[in-house]
Amino acid sequence: MQIPFTACPGLFYTTPAQDGFLYRLRIPGGIINYQQCQIIADIADNYGSGYIDITNRANIQIREIKQRINIEVLQQLQIFSLGSSNANIDHIRNIMTSPTAGIDTEELIDTRPLVKAWEEYITANSHLSELSAKFSVCFDGGGKVAIKYQPNDIILAAELDQSDVYLRLYLSYGEKGEASKDTGILLKPEESIQVLAALAETYLKHIDTKAHRKARLREIINNITIETYIQQVKEKLSPNIFDIRKNSLCDSATLREKNHLGIHPQRQTGLYYIGIVVPLGRLESWQIRGLANIAKRYGDDNIRLTPWQNLLLTDIPQNQILEVEQKITNLGLNSSPTDIKSSLVACSGKRGCAAAATETKEDALNLAKHLENLMILDSPVNIHFSGCSKSCAQHTQADITLFGVTLETANETVPAYQVYVFGHLLYEYVTLDKVPALIRQMLELYQKERLSLHESFGQFIDRHSHQLNQLFSKSSPNLTFTILKSHV
Ligand code: SF4
Repeated sequence: MQIPFTACPGLFYTTPAQDGFLYRLRIPGGIINYQQCQIIADIADNYGSGYIDITNRANIQIREIKQRINIEVLQQLQIFSLGSSNANIDHIRNIMTSPTAGIDTEELIDTRPLVKAWEEYITANSHLSELSAKFSVCFDGGGKVAIKYQPNDIILAAELDQSDVYLRLYLSYGEKGEASKDTGILLKPEESIQVLAALAETYLKHIDTKAHRKARLREIINNITIETYIQQVKEKLSPNIFDIRKNSLCDSATLREKNHLGIHPQRQTGLYYIGIVVPLGRLESWQIRGLANIAKRYGDDNIRLTPWQNLLLTDIPQNQILEVEQKITNLGLNSSPTDIKSSLVACSGKRGCAAAATETKEDALNLAKHLENLMILDSPVNIHFSGCSKSCAQHTQADITLFGVTLETANETVPAYQVYVFGHLLYEYVTLDKVPALIRQMLELYQKERLSLHESFGQFIDRHSHQLNQLFSKSSPNLTFTILKSHV
């Protein structure tokens, strides 16, 4: 088996981390069944440290693996669809879709068959193993739980034109970190696989497939221009396959995915899904087994992982919701959208990553404990702890971001954070002992000065965007941060 070079974790090659080897199970669409959950829990127990992490592409990562997983186990994982049957394409980024595909009350199209078809296409076409590991595709069915605002190279997002459903094509180009852009192109859902194939082949034509670092789609398009790229894609397709229309009227970078946590009716009458908070995306093996048991007994046998690093139980009959909620509580979990941990994100931090300046997960949990004791967070605020500026755990901008740095004093080097709101640096070199009180004061200021309960943290920040420093200086009059000498 020829395994491509990639810095990204996978299943068929080992990725060393600070705390042992790291394996990533790629789960197209993020749906796993009862039996797969049991296998995952067994691997976490037998090879790792008894826990798994849900990633921001709805993969599963197993960390702290001390000895390589043997070939027989890898083959078992392939048999149970926890690894691609074509090991050469397993490094390619997981295919994303809304975790509510097929059950969302507002969706225009169930995208699960599209995910399956694209996965089958890349599995059957081995030359696509030459795609960059970061080549990413996302399908959005136009439902309540939108996923088209997640960063991806290619996004196909459903919209209605008269009574017909089309997929609008968004592509990543421009500055690094910019949202994918509307190309103005609409296509029929049944054309999506041939269009994706043409987009991939055209990209491959422009990259050095032998290079260790393959250029991203964004870089290729920037280089040859979007017009040339689209023209070359069109040449690979039957005439008139792209139905080009004006740009989407409803598209806006400020729109965000709606909350999926808590109890929600499905499009199937009488059935509900429950969005469950997974603190920092981490589950212990006994919790995975417990969730799988609930899914088997009360639901449709499946658990759906989300890119927000939590999960859904689906197809729960209305008269069993209370019983299921009690079972969830027994597992030490809950489904409250206002639980501070519901929007708290952290990368692996110092324990798992040599680049980290801070123990992000520990610091995030300390913050959660502090806030839980002293305030009620009545609307979700997304807080992201990152051990460095690479932001592995969350590529989209959080409400509050803390980047780990080190602060050098005369006598010692101490970990600290740079604190941002929506990309605006507010506080520098905040030491760990001051982080919980500072964030609490920021949140209390928001609660005190927002226009109403319905004004989100993001809207509040937008309203004050020209005077953020003055605004937040009110929140932390007693906190002073001495910068002696520092390095990131
Ligand atoms: S964000 Fe930085 S510190 Fe955190 S896992 Fe990624 S590289 Fe490591």
